[in-house]
Amino acid sequence: MTLKICERCTAVFDGHKWYDDPEKHRALARRGAARVALCPGDERLEKRRVDGVVHLSGGFLRGHKEEAVNLIHNISEKHRHRNVAARLFEVKDADGGITVETTEVTLAEKIGKEFEKAFSGDLNISWLQGADFVRVKWRRD
Ligand SMILES: [Zn+2]
Repeated sequence: MTLKICERCTAVFDGHKWYDDPEKHRALARRGAARVALCPGDERLEKRRVDGVVHLSGGFLRGHKEEAVNLIHNISEKHRHRNVAARLFEVKDADGGITVETTEVTLAEKIGKEFEKAFSGDLNISWLQGADFVRVKWRRD
């Protein structure tokens, strides 16, 4: 069984799967007991692999930009604990709205759903390329 630790974040590979565990990561790093590698999330970031795009738009965002950006980061942080491959590739301003690129389809979907839950508005999710890519649109005027 080969133990691995990610060189860029706190993910650990136990021989079967990757998961986030800062404490174990620290202990393994200290003992030099694991091979240093890239976790699936950092590998996707490295390869610039984007599997989901979320467009957030509408007048509502103008007064709630900071709240919206914080929400995006909170959702991503929570999601990463369940799935280390799911990461934010980029969060950028786009025509008064926000565009988010993710390395994993479920994270993009989750961001759309959480925005609808938190702020209502209109949500549209389209799966493309046999569900390997998702385009999510959320809008509130
Ligand atoms: Zn990592």
